[in-house]
Amino acid sequence: KPIDIGTILKNVITKMDVNIKRKGQTIKANIPEELPEVFADNDKVEQVFQNILSNAYKYTPEGGKIYIDVEYAEKMVKVTFKDTGVGIPKEDLPRIFERFYRVDKTRSREMGGTGLGLSIAREIVQAHGGEISISSELGKGTSVIIQIPAISGQLVSTN
Ligand code: ATP
Ligand code: MG
Repeated sequence: KPIDIGTILKNVITKMDVNIKRKGQTIKANIPEELPEVFADNDKVEQVFQNILSNAYKYTPEGGKIYIDVEYAEKMVKVTFKDTGVGIPKEDLPRIFERFYRVDKTRSREMGGTGLGLSIAREIVQAHGGEISISSELGKGTSVIIQIPAISGQLVSTN
């Protein structure tokens, strides 16, 4: 089914907004008024965004920032989640999409969770012909980029 990524993203942000504000974090989303649609399962794409945004929230300390940027380039709708959180050590990055993989036991105990969020996200994104990548700097922050093929170049309102 053709879906509109901008609208899904806005819903996910609205759902998490209270928690983000309560933690003193700022979220800044840059979503174009119009985007091409993608061929995807609405609920699954929502789950991907929810997983990535909840990571940004969880692994960013109080007062931190979360940025979401959406753009359309080279026939792909590209969503970037960037945070100013704790970051991921270089040596852990190659394994971060594995099921149950978590960075360290102390961090995991404090934060809760199962280590499935990113592996599920990758599974869904790849099932839609897309790509997900992560880059991070320890102590500085993390960026997750998700790209999903657009149906066509035709723009549709995201409102
Ligand atoms: P779950 O998502 O199942 O609740 P989880 O968040 O630990 O648990 P993933 O979402 O798969 O699992 O993430 C795997 C690990 O990658 C996390 O345990 C965390 O150490 C690290 N990680 C993921 N996103 C971030 C981020 N934005 N900043 C810092 N570390 C991150
Ligand atoms: Mg997670």
